[in-house]
Amino acid sequence: MSSLPTEQSEALYQRAKRVIPGGVSSPVRAFRAVGGTPRFIRSARGAYVTDVDGNEYVDLVGSWGPMLLGHAHPEVLDAVARAAQHGTSFGAPTEAEIDLAEMIIDRTPVEQVRLVNSGTEATMSALRLARGYTGRDKVIKFEGCYHGHVDSLLVAAGSGAATMGHPSSPGVTQATTADTIVCTYNDRESVRQAFRGHGNNIACIIAEAAAGNMGVVPPAEEDGENFTAFLSRIAHEHGALLITDEVMTGFRVSRSGQWGLDGQHGDLMTFGKVMGGGFPAAAFGGRSEIMQQLSPVGPVYQAGTLSGNPVATAAGSTTLRLATEEVYAQIDRSSELLRAEIGKALDAFQVPHVIQHTGNLFSGFFTPEGTTEVPDWKAAATQREDVFAAFFHGLLANGVYLGPSCYEAWFLSAAHDDAALDRIFDALPKAAAAAR
Ligand code: PLP
Repeated sequence: MSSLPTEQSEALYQRAKRVIPGGVSSPVRAFRAVGGTPRFIRSARGAYVTDVDGNEYVDLVGSWGPMLLGHAHPEVLDAVARAAQHGTSFGAPTEAEIDLAEMIIDRTPVEQVRLVNSGTEATMSALRLARGYTGRDKVIKFEGCYHGHVDSLLVAAGSGAATMGHPSSPGVTQATTADTIVCTYNDRESVRQAFRGHGNNIACIIAEAAAGNMGVVPPAEEDGENFTAFLSRIAHEHGALLITDEVMTGFRVSRSGQWGLDGQHGDLMTFGKVMGGGFPAAAFGGRSEIMQQLSPVGPVYQAGTLSGNPVATAAGSTTLRLATEEVYAQIDRSSELLRAEIGKALDAFQVPHVIQHTGNLFSGFFTPEGTTEVPDWKAAATQREDVFAAFFHGLLANGVYLGPSCYEAWFLSAAHDDAALDRIFDALPKAAAAAR
């Protein structure tokens, strides 16, 4: 499918498949939905990744979000090296954890945070805390929203779970998901119905602050009220909490994440990706009164051997320190230009599509002719996956590395300068022609 050499990636793929299921450490890295051999990456710098065959691609994956500043940023590398020289893990508190916690609190409405190692841990822990705080069991989640591979949330999930074709996974027991209620994103009546049915036993609603795992689907406005604001209101009317998951949007769509764009936030919030600067660091936070329920102060248990790791926190705080308003303004501009060019290229070859965004985070939907809007999972799932696959391979063959799934967001960085954007603009008409 690609005219670029892939012998080395192919050899590593065969070797990997013998020892790692599917040859990948996370399913979304496989080319399952688009066909072909996943590219094994040898190195990355700025806006580019280079594979083991020596092919250089403009990277639109950015490690699925963390690389806001681009790859191998010299100041981040320097902070990591300096931290590592003082020891890599202590299992005891450090000043670096406080620095990162204070930076998160400075940028968001949360009053306290706890650091963890992945977005999955953040949502899992936030859920436990919401249940412990309210003394209730049930949780509302939305079809097509992905919150990591937490058992009770792996129901009708987006991202890799959608790409793999089994949104609910074997191994997740009926009992585990019995307290999970699945509603439709941007559909207020489905949420009202859930509260009518389960009223006082709902501990919380968890929602992506803007959905990014079924493609990008922002919270819709209705009668002047944004969907997340509605969720907050209805949760509070019933004594439940709202968790806004900002693992993808946090510190990416603005300095203060989605909250910085629409002013809406949950009682608890979850963060990850950018705040780890390419290392395993994530967090959940909220009002002190709720956070104080966590062990060792309160009874809700939550822990982690490597949580607040000094190397990860150094990468995270350096990334956040360098992520100034100017950085976001530049990425916003690049995103706007790129969205316009994608639209132009697909229009020129009459490939039906919809492009949606929240701030600089966007995705293209290869929906049937006549679709003007994608408000939820059902609309996202009408996409022509074969058309996306052709477009994806068209980009790849022309030196642009996009996430290998039509249900993923496209990630830009501050390192995507004019030269990198021009390379994408050159590739777009060729990819659009392939998708026609
Ligand atoms: N929440 C959201 C919104 C995500 O996009 C993701 C990952 O893509 C997660 C949670 C899980 O994060 P992690 O992969 O770090 O466990």
